[in-house]
Amino acid sequence: MRDYSFGNFLHELRLRSGLTQYQLGLLIGVSDKAVSKWENGSSMPQSSVLYKLSEALGVSVDELLSCKYHSFEKKDTKGVFATKKQLWNKAFDAMRERYGNPVPIEIVNRFLTEQAEMQNTDSIVYFDMLSVLSSAAKKRHDHVMVKGGTGSSLVAYLLGATEINPLKPHYCCTACHRVVFDDSAADGWDLPPKECICGRAMIADGHDIPFESCRHEVNHGSHVFVSVSPDFFRPAVECIEDYFEEYTLTRKEWEADRFITIKVSSESAEGSVAVIAAEEYARFQTLAQATATSFDRIPFASDEILREFQSGSTDGILEFHTKYMKNMLHTVRANSFHDLIQIFGLCHGTGVWTDNAGELVAQGCPVGKVIAYGDDVFRHMQEKMISKGLADTGFAYAVMENTRRGLYAKNGIPHDIKMQLKSIGMDDWFVDSIGKIKILMHKAHGVSYVRLAATLMWYKLHYTKEFNEIML
Ligand SMILES: [Zn+2]
Repeated sequence: MRDYSFGNFLHELRLRSGLTQYQLGLLIGVSDKAVSKWENGSSMPQSSVLYKLSEALGVSVDELLSCKYHSFEKKDTKGVFATKKQLWNKAFDAMRERYGNPVPIEIVNRFLTEQAEMQNTDSIVYFDMLSVLSSAAKKRHDHVMVKGGTGSSLVAYLLGATEINPLKPHYCCTACHRVVFDDSAADGWDLPPKECICGRAMIADGHDIPFESCRHEVNHGSHVFVSVSPDFFRPAVECIEDYFEEYTLTRKEWEADRFITIKVSSESAEGSVAVIAAEEYARFQTLAQATATSFDRIPFASDEILREFQSGSTDGILEFHTKYMKNMLHTVRANSFHDLIQIFGLCHGTGVWTDNAGELVAQGCPVGKVIAYGDDVFRHMQEKMISKGLADTGFAYAVMENTRRGLYAKNGIPHDIKMQLKSIGMDDWFVDSIGKIKILMHKAHGVSYVRLAATLMWYKLHYTKEFNEIML
């Protein structure tokens, strides 16, 4: 007699994930026919496939074989876990709403990878909190800057915790939700305008940030840093504490009305939120009010804005107004937003530019190709490994983390690591460069700053009088 229980359960899980039989097949390396056979009960997957299946569908192998969700059923009775399940559904719905149905397989794959890594942590709760905080700030024309790797997560982006889209450069239509990936530019902000087949102008976005960039943070609890304007400092702390009302909170005031950390403990995890008051953010609010234009609606990704950065007229532009940055913009021409993002990273790491990437650029290497962020180490290695048919990303991740922390600069690159890097075809300049780096930023962090700087540049160009009065 045919047993339908496994097939029915698989069918339910697949629909919950919004996958077609073909898409699920792609993710786990079988044909849609094989998936169809499992679902109609005419065959069972081999044990070697079960693990992949469980990863793709976000359940344990044990759950798959017993055809029911143990964990969810048990955990559902507790507040925090019920919330998490709802949040995952919310993020999933946001993905479908934005990227159509069916969602392109690259995007589904990214979502599921993040879910597999994060579903046993509280990360998604922090993303949701950041989204609540950022909505509260926007209502009063205030600005919240989230530091660290949050922008490396697609789920964080979908939930509104960050404005940084980590996908590869792509176009997306807000009317018909068509998505077109386009690798002709290294950054979505550099893609030329494009019209959708439905006639609407498409939005270009995506900074090609691998999720692995924030894996360390995800695995070691959520530690979030937010900068806010001094006026919004108290409301922000209240907003965060209200959000985590069901958790145990320990507040530590390092500096009155300027710097607070809130330790957040739940049954499953411990994390923290640091809130820092930044003087200059008050001026952004004044600027937005004086010009009656909202910060989050500025069309900053244009040639005119890029030209201003090229000319070095960056007075009053946060993080770009220093002599060092001006010199840098003079020495290295930013031909694209990708270059500008690279330049920011090169200036904000240690051991990254001087005696390192600077020499490569002087010898004619494009600034877009050198290592400016931890993400670049991972991406360069992953590209080589994929071209050699190696799918494992564990090695690239380890090298990225060791480089980011300056371990190779301190202790030298171990001989066996050097040999392995050579065996996957990494160039000498790459090995040489990672051996000198002491501190590397997260790309998501750099993109946030460039976004803010380009927005300010837009004001400078279009509301020069107000900008000069408020920002200079
Ligand atoms: Zn369209």
